[in-house]
Amino acid sequence: MPGSFPKWILLELVMFAAIFCAALSASAETLLLEDKPSYDLSGYMEILTDPENKLTVQQAADRSDWTGTVRDRVPNLGFTQAAIWIRFSLANRADAARKFYISFEYPVTNSVAFYAKSPQGALQKEHTGSSIPASANVVPDRYFLFPLTMGAGETAVGYLKVQSTSRMIFPIRVLSDQALFRKAIRDYTVYGALLGFLVLVMLYFTASGSFLHKGTAVCLVLYSIFFGMHTAIRGGFIRLLLPDILVGIMDILQLVVVAGLFFTGAKFFRLFLSLKSRSKFLDRIMTFFQYLSLTFIVIPIFPDPIIIATTLVLIVINPLFSIGLAFYFWRKGVSNAGIFAIGWVVAHLVAVHDFFRINGVISYEPLGEWPIPFSLFIALLFLSIALIRKNAADRLMAETDPLTRLANRRKFDEVLHQEWDRCRRQQSPLSIIMADVDHFKQYNDSFGHRAGDKCLCLVADVLANHARRSGDLAVRYGGEEFVLLLPHLNAAGAFAAAERIRNAVIQATEGGTNRHAEDHITISLGVATKIPEEGRNPEDLVLEADKAMYEAKRAGRNRTAAFDQNVLPGRGAYEEALATK
Ligand code: GH3
Ligand code: MG
Ligand code: MG
Repeated sequence: MPGSFPKWILLELVMFAAIFCAALSASAETLLLEDKPSYDLSGYMEILTDPENKLTVQQAADRSDWTGTVRDRVPNLGFTQAAIWIRFSLANRADAARKFYISFEYPVTNSVAFYAKSPQGALQKEHTGSSIPASANVVPDRYFLFPLTMGAGETAVGYLKVQSTSRMIFPIRVLSDQALFRKAIRDYTVYGALLGFLVLVMLYFTASGSFLHKGTAVCLVLYSIFFGMHTAIRGGFIRLLLPDILVGIMDILQLVVVAGLFFTGAKFFRLFLSLKSRSKFLDRIMTFFQYLSLTFIVIPIFPDPIIIATTLVLIVINPLFSIGLAFYFWRKGVSNAGIFAIGWVVAHLVAVHDFFRINGVISYEPLGEWPIPFSLFIALLFLSIALIRKNAADRLMAETDPLTRLANRRKFDEVLHQEWDRCRRQQSPLSIIMADVDHFKQYNDSFGHRAGDKCLCLVADVLANHARRSGDLAVRYGGEEFVLLLPHLNAAGAFAAAERIRNAVIQATEGGTNRHAEDHITISLGVATKIPEEGRNPEDLVLEADKAMYEAKRAGRNRTAAFDQNVLPGRGAYEEALATK
């Protein structure tokens, strides 16, 4: 796209303008260390560029082209191959010797070397960075820590030499001993809680194997893993956890994780919102973003304008586009799209914000590192709730008849086998009532389909009212055919129940379901009962109930017939069975 090329140049100019604004100021003053636990070093630093990375600390110190930095604004020099020197001066104002830590808080920086000159002229040196194993450091920490002991009233000048393939961002603090430990306890508690939550999300979606949306759940689990790893890398934890020999892969790992995060995120987005079935065009755009994110893995081999363009498309345009889509589907009333959108917006606005601040367009402070871990928590919370609710709603829909709200045939088949097995183990009878509306075609023809539907709902209500005990299930079996499954009920009891239902339907539809209906609705019922045996089939029982129902139709309708005529009870048995029900 040669036509759009100047825009990227413009963008780079904007970024560099922001960066240089951040770096311009008068020469730095000494930071006075009194009794505060923690000091921001921004504004007390001077910066020197060493393009060939060949200066010694003494040569650097002797140079005259150091520039100052702005207070409360973290210096950000963008990408550079050069080594960057930072100089600062600290004064211990206490009347006792104290130990401080220089804390370099951008953990994806490859190499940070620290030199401090004491008034006696002794040189202290310490070298760390994301490409250097934590075991090599005096104080291993998720940040890069340099201890510095200063006598009462003493002043020390410190130098840091930084090299990195990541951005040159220098959030640096000076911490007291106490502040360091307090911060460590707070950090590990917060990150521990976040990680615990992440593990919970992963376990939940991995363990619930009966999920309707298995692919979507797998995507969310992978997305959580990448999100967790991204948080751990940006929080500086990975270097502490990786064995020393793997520290060399940190750079590539970072890119793989970002690629994986955006890839699984886009896939999850498409699956959760069933984007393909809503709009092929929108789905194609999201698929494009999804596969484009894989280029992150090889992005360093491209020239700068391509890197900037790709990153901009993936980390700014892609999130903003998908946020817009999520809101659009929310407004359109797609179920659970609202909860989904909240989770999505949080994660992706933070990505956009992060892009702008690490590129120096907006200030790195005051939120520091916290947007990423907290967006992890909020995003995963809402996305998980959205998926759990979507699953529950879809599962209910998959086993419910939309007109009558009774169970549908799929649910019936499932429960029939369960109850058959249960009754077999307990050697208990299992009864089935099959019911069919009489002359329903005629009813439809006389009063219309809508009145017919209403009528079906009334019959369904009567059936549902007779499914009272746990295990009972009222089912819409077909058009105007219903089934009532009654475990642990004998033949006499089932026959009695069928008769009650028959009478209740007459009562419920007395005067018709519609003003013009002159007559009530009647149903014919068939009853079958069995104590399940090994090797027999529950479908046989359904067949027997169906045969009995056909028998009731043949005998003149509006009656109940039992498959096994021998169990037909006398009048007294009805009452007896009713009393036990
Ligand atoms: P029978 O007494 O022998 O059962 O006679 P019938 O007319 O009820 O039997 P048939 O099976 O021939 O007709 C069933 C009718 O039920 C046909 C169809 O119009 C109607 N029907 C099926 N499903 C629905 C539905 O969801 N709504 C409405 N209104 N009618 C339905
Ligand atoms: Mg019928
Ligand atoms: Mg029928």
